[in-house]
Amino acid sequence: MTEIVRLENVSKEYALGEHRVHALKNVSFSVDAGVVLAIAGPSGSGKSTLLNLIGLIDVATSGRVVVDGHDISGRTPDELAEMRRRTIGFIFQTFNLFPVLTAKENVEFPLLQRHALTKQERSRRASVALEAVGLTAVARHRPNQLSGGQRQRVAIARALACGPKIVLADEPTANLDHKTGEGILELMKEINRKLHTTFVFSTHDQKVLDFADHYVGMEDGELRFLGLRKDNQWLISDDRRRADRRKGDRRRTVRSADEAPGVRAPEQ
Ligand code: ADP
Ligand code: MG
Repeated sequence: MTEIVRLENVSKEYALGEHRVHALKNVSFSVDAGVVLAIAGPSGSGKSTLLNLIGLIDVATSGRVVVDGHDISGRTPDELAEMRRRTIGFIFQTFNLFPVLTAKENVEFPLLQRHALTKQERSRRASVALEAVGLTAVARHRPNQLSGGQRQRVAIARALACGPKIVLADEPTANLDHKTGEGILELMKEINRKLHTTFVFSTHDQKVLDFADHYVGMEDGELRFLGLRKDNQWLISDDRRRADRRKGDRRRTVRSADEAPGVRAPEQ
């Protein structure tokens, strides 16, 4: 498998008044192209920070971030923006749709930055993306005429319209009821299987980990667990003792991610 994202000893600190917050501490992992990866952990564990680094919205304080084969350290904001446009699609917890635009106009919006596209081509791409998420019938509706699940589908269509290699979704189900949230993850998995787009979503909900192929468990800014789903079982490696090789191989198998460690306190 080709690697699409690699983090090497990545740390991120924020200045908060006189204090420094260590949002990420020495995090290393890689993501294979074409997988669905969940970043799991309680509130404040560093999930959004990780997604922002992978999404080229923010830069690491130290360590290396490689996205789609490009080391992104030392890039100018313009270069990062260009790489982001070419490579990344975003989905947010609060959908972030423009209320005055229709579903289709929302999906078309990021395509306006593609100056090489004709108006017809933009429209065609938006229609194809809306169709992929099953929303053709409500293309002319505004967000307030749509349910939460439909809004999140519009956001998925918007992310897909640019043909990104990676779609990043920061707690995409947090504002949805459980069943609707599962529907959204099911849809992402379906699109992933069809288009081979890599999906990375964050969650504090252990129940949804089984929608992922891999998972990264975060605690207090540290990577604590890596999980790999194989034949409907999870192979978990406990990263806590990684430095202590004498403890031997700490891999273990669990039947479902519900039994897996790494996600505890629910987010408020
Ligand atoms: P999560 O998404 O898992 O809830 P975050 O990545 O948002 O976690 O935050 C990780 C830590 O970094 C938290 O302690 C949070 O308060 C802190 N943090 C995040 N963004 C900022 C910021 N812009 N300024 C200061 N601290 C921040
Ligand atoms: Mg967050």
